[in-house]
Order: sequence, then structure tokens, then C-alpha cells
Amino acid sequence: MKHIQVVFLSALIIFCFEAVRSQPVKRHGNLSVQGTRMVDQNGSTVVLKGVSFGWHNWWPRFYNKETVHWLYKDWNCSIVRAAMGVEPEKGYLDSPGWSEKKIEAVIEGAVKEDIYVIIDWHSHGLHLKGALAFFEEMAGKYGHYPHIIYEIYNEPVRQSWQEVKSYSVEVIKKIRESDPDNIILVGSPHWCQDIHLVADDPIEGFDNLMYTTHFYAATHGQYLRDRGDYALKKGIPLYVSECAGMSANGDGPIDYEAWNTWIDWMDKNDIGWICWSVADKNETCSMLKKSAGSKGEWEEADLKESGIKTRELLRTGSLK
Ligand code: MG
Repeated sequence: MKHIQVVFLSALIIFCFEAVRSQPVKRHGNLSVQGTRMVDQNGSTVVLKGVSFGWHNWWPRFYNKETVHWLYKDWNCSIVRAAMGVEPEKGYLDSPGWSEKKIEAVIEGAVKEDIYVIIDWHSHGLHLKGALAFFEEMAGKYGHYPHIIYEIYNEPVRQSWQEVKSYSVEVIKKIRESDPDNIILVGSPHWCQDIHLVADDPIEGFDNLMYTTHFYAATHGQYLRDRGDYALKKGIPLYVSECAGMSANGDGPIDYEAWNTWIDWMDKNDIGWICWSVADKNETCSMLKKSAGSKGEWEEADLKESGIKTRELLRTGSLK
């Protein structure tokens, strides 16, 4: 009898622990920005960590609710990023209806699992008209969900901060017409590295904005963290909506020392991050092998080194 009670109690404790650990949105609710921090419905700092899907136009097979479920349950993601390719063939400009369906499968999967989701306008060029149409639709449809975070320009390459800023203000205004509160992530010039330019001239007049900075640890070092420190000191809230451990072309060996330095810096500053990416391309940053099923349920043998390490980082909080 005693044995049965112990088993029952242990099961209950595990169940309760899982219930608390799980369902990040139930726990944190509506997010907002206070100073440089992302905070939850109780005003407590929240640091959301997860992974990005690869470009939807090239890796559509992973854009489904089952993969979201696996990334949450097995990888411990409290957030995922749906990266909607804008410019390439089968991207949003070419195939808007199909593209939205793919992104919505991930959004609806995240809502079902009760985790956060970034709707990422995954572009390297400026396409204001398309962005306004897309975000108007997304904000109207999903803006009442606490799960949603908008990322309005993945990585500007050639535009100045003034150009990115003007574009961002237009898109923010459009989102705010139907969604007054969810967090909006704003890109910075040169693949989200010129955060110091943003810090000298931030967008005024809107709440719940954060700015993105992206790193690939084997390429981007202390100079980029110095820019981040400069921005934080000036009260600029940062989110690392894309990062990984290898060089900026997504290939070559993972530099663990450099990656760990970045992880320490983000932990120290309570900055959340998203690792790139859920894809099976033959390159270091794509975390899956060709053998990986389209709907999660992956064995370790289906993961590449970056997948194994990212999963470990999400599950344990550090890289061994
Ligand atoms: Mg809202």
C-alpha cells in the first residue's frame, strides 16, 4: 500500500512540475517591455529561448503543428520563430496565400501548445507595401493572442537606419491599428549589427518595441557585444532573434568558446534568444539531417551537431 502511495505521490509531483514548467503563455500571459527588459503579466522579467524555423519557402515540410509540439515538448522551447521568406521564389511576394498558410500552421501550433511565436518578415530588402498588407492581416487575425510577437524586418542589409526607421514606423502604425500591445521586434542595419545607430536615434512614441541584434559566434565577437552594452546603457531593449555558434555564412565548425561567451553575455543581461534553424540543408547551422521526419519525433541520429547542442542548451541552460 505504502509503495503505491509513494508511486502515486511521485507521479502527482512530476505532473504538477510539468504543468508549471509547461504552458509558458499560461504562466507569463501578455508580454510587455519595461526599460530594457521583456516582462510578463506580473511585471517579472521573462527570457524566452527557442529556435527559428528555416525559410518557409525552402523548408516548408517542417511548418506544421506537430513540429511545434516536438520543439516545445522535447527541445523545451518557450518560443519558436516562423521565418517567412519574402523575396525568393515561393516567398511571400511570389506566393502570398501559400506563404501565409505555412506561417499560420506554426502560429496555430504555438497557440495550441501555449508557447510564444515570432511572426518574422524574413527579408534582406525593404518591401513596405507587402509588409503593410501582411502585418495588417496578421495583427487583425492574431493580435488578441498573448502568444504573438512581430518581427517586422529580419535583416536589413543595404538601408541606413533612417530608412529602416521610417519603414518600421509605418509598419508599427499599421500593426497598432488592430493590436495595441503585443511586442514588436525592430531590425537594425547590416544584418542586425548596427544597434549602436539605433541607440543614438530610437523610435519614439510607441510602447512595447524591442530591437534585434543577430550573431554568429565564430564571426561576430566582442565588438558586437560592446554595441549591445552601449545600447542597453542608453535604455534600448534588445532581443537576439537569430543566432548560432558557427560563422556568419552558417557553415564551418562551431566555435564553442565564442558561443559560450555570447550565452554568458545574454544570461547576464536577461536577453532572450532564438537559434537558427530548423532545416535539413547541408550546412552547419541547419540543425536536422535529411533523415529527420517532417513532423518532429526526431531521434538524436536525426540531429546534426548544431541540433544536438542547441537542444542541450535549451534543456539544461548551458553547453557542456
Ligand atoms: Mg494584442
